[in-house]
This record gives sequence, C-alpha cells and structure tokens, in this order.
Amino acid sequence: MACIFCKIAAGEIPAAKIYENEKCLAFLDINPVAFGHILLIPQEHYQTMTDTPDDLVAYLFVKAKELMPKIKKAMAADYVSLSVVGVDVPHFHIHLIPRRFDDGLADFWPTKKYADDEMAEVADKIKEEIGK
Ligand SMILES: [Zn+2]
Repeated sequence: MACIFCKIAAGEIPAAKIYENEKCLAFLDINPVAFGHILLIPQEHYQTMTDTPDDLVAYLFVKAKELMPKIKKAMAADYVSLSVVGVDVPHFHIHLIPRRFDDGLADFWPTKKYADDEMAEVADKIKEEIGK
C-alpha cells in the first residue's frame, strides 16, 4: 500500500493526530498554509471525493463542521476555511485552515473576469452536463 495517508491512518507513519474515530482521522498538515492547518480524511482509502460513498462524504463534512469552531478557538483564528483540492494526495481529504481576516491568504487565489457572453456560455456548458 503506497498511499501516504493510509500509512498515517495505519500508524505506519507518524502524524500529529488531533482527532480519530473508526471512520475518520484528522491530523496536522506537515506543510501548513497556517499553523493549525488540518487534514480530515476517511480511514478507508478513496482516491477522490467522487469515489467516496455519499454517506461517508456527508459524515466527513458534518465532522468538519464540528471541528471548525474548536480549531478556531484553539488557534485564536477569525474563522476556519475549508477546501477540497483533490489533486495533491490521492486519498480524499478536506483541508481545514485557521484563518485571520488580515492573513493575506486570499491573495494566492487569483480571480479572472468573464468577457461579455462568456459567463452565460460557461453556465450553459455546466448546466448541459448536469442535465445529462
Ligand atoms: Zn489512502
């Protein structure tokens, strides 16, 4: 088994675990965007959120919701952001990142502008796929 998160879940690789039960595990990211940056994973291996059973995805997001105010308080953060990137480590995980309003982190996610008709075209393209 080559998956680094499975090895962490199995205790084969040490991690700073902050919460664990039979379904999920939360531990500190070793390359944190901010101190207290946590990864919440299912104990069982699923490559992406799309591969993960619906009830487990729902469970993990409810667990994230439970952990967020505790992380916020412990890290004296203004809020906790949540993201699923899905291409870095191929074991589904949710990033929970303690944030400050003035931390400047939002700046690393550059935004684009739609040209006149582009927004409607993009919306139509996605709606067409959803409708299939
Ligand atoms: Zn895994």
